[in-house]
Amino acid sequence: MGIQATHDAYIALGSNLGDREGYLHTALKAIHGYKGLRLTGLSGIYQTAPVGYTDQDPFLNMVCRINLSLGPFELLEALQEIEHDLARKRTIRWGPRTIDLDLLLYDREIISTPSLTVPHPRMFERAFVLVPLRDIYPDSAIQGTSLGECIESSQDREGITLYRSSEDMCALFTG
Ligand code: ATP
Ligand code: CA
Ligand code: CA
Repeated sequence: MGIQATHDAYIALGSNLGDREGYLHTALKAIHGYKGLRLTGLSGIYQTAPVGYTDQDPFLNMVCRINLSLGPFELLEALQEIEHDLARKRTIRWGPRTIDLDLLLYDREIISTPSLTVPHPRMFERAFVLVPLRDIYPDSAIQGTSLGECIESSQDREGITLYRSSEDMCALFTG
């Protein structure tokens, strides 16, 4: 038996078009079924009033943790492939989409390239990311930044309501 190096990453999922919860479930199954990726944690699903381009339906947002053998760029490619398979249509920036998969954290790595920035550059100001992340993140701070304080000071925290609990999500996935 060889020793295999594994990594932990956190992914944000969002959908506000069509069968929103169905798209989240399909994306989670695709992530878990992807070679080299394994789901290890599911937040609750939160309904979120749209930010930015506000003339659209509310988002469902959640965060999952995965254990993986892929590198961060391979992971981004996998996420983009899954988005593509779910036929994401994009015309308006921050506009409606069937599914959006963002890489939030990859171990404790800091990556800054044109195609990939980790931690996700806008995550610390987005309650719709931080509130679900708090469900499954083991510590109260990330790289010295307090999750609770970020949530307190975020503009959008009032617009977020629990849609399905983390316990319900885990029960659905473990059967
Ligand atoms: P936002 O990034 O503000 O949430 P968005 O999700 O709508 O906006 P997209 O159009 O989905 O943005 O992505 C634009 C580009 O962002 C992608 O082509 C990808 O290369 C790049 N990108 C950089 N860092 C990340 C990351 N951590 N996760 C996902 N995509 C990233
Ligand atoms: Ca996004
Ligand atoms: Ca994205």
